[in-house]
This record gives sequence, structure tokens and C-alpha cells, in this order.
Amino acid sequence: QLVTFEGIDGAGKSTHVAWYAQRLRDRGVEVVLTREPGGTPLAERLRDLLLGEPMSLGTETLLMFAARNEHLEGLIRPALARGAWVVCDRFTDSTYAYQGGGRGVPFERIEGLEDWVHGGLQPRRTYLFDLPAELAAQRRAAARDADRFEAEDLAFFGRVRDAYLARQARDPARILAIDARRGIDSIRASLELDIASIWNQ
Ligand code: C5P
Repeated sequence: QLVTFEGIDGAGKSTHVAWYAQRLRDRGVEVVLTREPGGTPLAERLRDLLLGEPMSLGTETLLMFAARNEHLEGLIRPALARGAWVVCDRFTDSTYAYQGGGRGVPFERIEGLEDWVHGGLQPRRTYLFDLPAELAAQRRAAARDADRFEAEDLAFFGRVRDAYLARQARDPARILAIDARRGIDSIRASLELDIASIWNQ
């Protein structure tokens, strides 16, 4: 099973993703915990370029999918084929939200790349950590390690959030929205319940 975690920077998904992977391991399955962009040596090098280097929007979008292709072929598909669970911090919904909603790449372009690179593979579940852009900015200001995407303004993150919510509305069976203003324990309880529901299907 492939499970992905999504949300605007500062929504807190990274706090939950490692915990989630451990809860699955406690059930005795192999879990591969990974992230995008990245996840393989080459894809991590592409991540360094993407996060550090100014580039045109087309290059950015294509490099995201180049990294994703590498990740899928080198790590995700082999893991799924041997029966492991793959838990991924960001995936293709991030490209729709950031390069699409945030920066204005037409969604049809992203769909074309998705068809090519995914070849039909979709996450079994996606958790969308949703938070108003203002609150996320306050949380980011409290942390320090900003990359070039996190330097964007509030309007940008508002568009990213809206694109995420639109995707959730279109595919509510896959994408579960989690109100990231809730406390950690309450969010964990929801995730635990959802693990049980996936497990029992
Ligand atoms: O979640 P994490 O902080 O690791 O994400 C790395 C950065 O890459 C974030 O600032 C995120 O906004 C950005 N990103 C992006 N487009 C993607 C995936 C990630 O702009 N498709």
C-alpha cells in the first residue's frame, strides 16, 4: 500500500509521518518511509537542485517528475511489489498544489506528466494536513530551516492550500483532510482509526 502525507509548509505533516510509519511497523509489516522530492540518491540530488537553485517553472515541474520517476522505479514500485507499505512525505498532489495552484502550471500539463510517470499507480490513502495560510506562516516563523519555497508570500500559500482542498473535494475517497489546528493526540487518534480501516479492508 502507498500512503502519502500532504499539506502546506508549516501544517505539521512531518511530525506525524514518522509516527504513522512506526504504528504500521508495530503491526508487523515492512514499512518504507520516504519523501519527495527525493527518496533515492539521484532523486535527493534533484531535490538539492529544486530547493536551492532558482529555475524556470517548466524546469521545476519537469524535475519534480524526473525525481518522482526515479523514486517510483528505484524505491516505491519494488517495495510495493514485495508487499511493503510505502509512507511518503509529499507526492504528486504537492505538484498540483505548488507548481499548479501556487505557480500557475496548467493542471492538464501536470495530468499528462502524472499519466506518464505513474502509469495508473495512485496512493491508497492521502492525508491532507490543512491549515489557514496565516497560521502556517506563524508556525514556519517559529522554525528556522526555510528553503526557497518557504520564502513565498501568504497569497502563494493561500493558492496552494486552495488547490489542495480542491483535490480533496474531487477525490474524497482517497484524500482525507485533517484539520491541522487540532492537537497532536487528537490527530494521532484519527490516523490510528484510519490505519485500522485500511487494514480491515
Ligand atoms: O515538505 P518539505 O519541507 O520536505 O518540502 C520541501 C519543499 O519543497 C517545500 O518547501 C515544498 O513546498 C516544496 N515542494 C514544492 N513542490 C513540490 C514538492 C515540494 O514546491 N511538488
